[in-house]
Amino acid sequence: MRRLVLVGPPGAGKGTQAVALSDKLGVPHISTGDLFRSHIGDETELGRNVRHYLDAGKLVPDEITNEMVKERLDEPDAADGFLLDGFPRNVGQADVLRAFLTDHGLELDAVVQLQVDEEVVVARLLSRGRADDNEDVIRHRQQVYRSETAPLLDYYRDVLVTVDGVGEVGEITDRVLSALRART
Ligand code: ADP
Repeated sequence: MRRLVLVGPPGAGKGTQAVALSDKLGVPHISTGDLFRSHIGDETELGRNVRHYLDAGKLVPDEITNEMVKERLDEPDAADGFLLDGFPRNVGQADVLRAFLTDHGLELDAVVQLQVDEEVVVARLLSRGRADDNEDVIRHRQQVYRSETAPLLDYYRDVLVTVDGVGEVGEITDRVLSALRART
C-alpha cells in the first residue's frame, strides 16, 4: 500500500490525515492545494496564473494541474510511493494519472475516501478561516466536489476504501490504516 489517493469533500480533513498517513506509511504527501499555495506565496508565474481560481473555489484548468502533478511524481522521492491529496479531482485528471502510472508499469494500490456529511464539512471550513473559506466559496467548492469529484468514487470502485471521517484525528488515521491492512 504505497501508491494512494485520498478523496473526500473540501473540509473532510484530507490534509490533516494525509500528513499523519504519509508519516506512518513512509511515502511523500503530495497536495495539489499546497503546491498551488506555495506557488502563489512564492509569486511564481504558475502562482500568478492560478491565484484567481483558488480565490473563487474553482478548479485550476487540467493542463496546468496535470503538468504540475506529473513533474512532482517524477521526483525521486515519489518513485517508491506517494499519497496524493486533492488530485485527481475529476475523471480527466484520473485518466491522466492512470496513463502516467501505466507508462511507469505501476498502478494505484488504493483510493481512500474520507466520508463526512456536507453540513459537518461546511461548519468546519467556516471556522478554519483560510483565504478561500468564505461561505459562498465554500458552497461552490462543495458543488464542484459533488459534480466533478464524486464520480471518481465509481471510477475507482475496485480500489476504493471508504472510511468514516468523523471523530478524533488519531482515531481516523487508525481507521484508515486498518482498512488498508484489511485489503492486503
Ligand atoms: P479543499 O480540500 O479545502 O478544497 P485544497 O487545498 O485541496 O482545499 O484545494 C484548494 C484549491 O486548489 C481548490 O479549490 C482548487 O482551486 C485548487 N485545486 C487543488 N487541487 C486541484 C486539482 N486537482 N485540480 C484543480 N484545482 C485544484
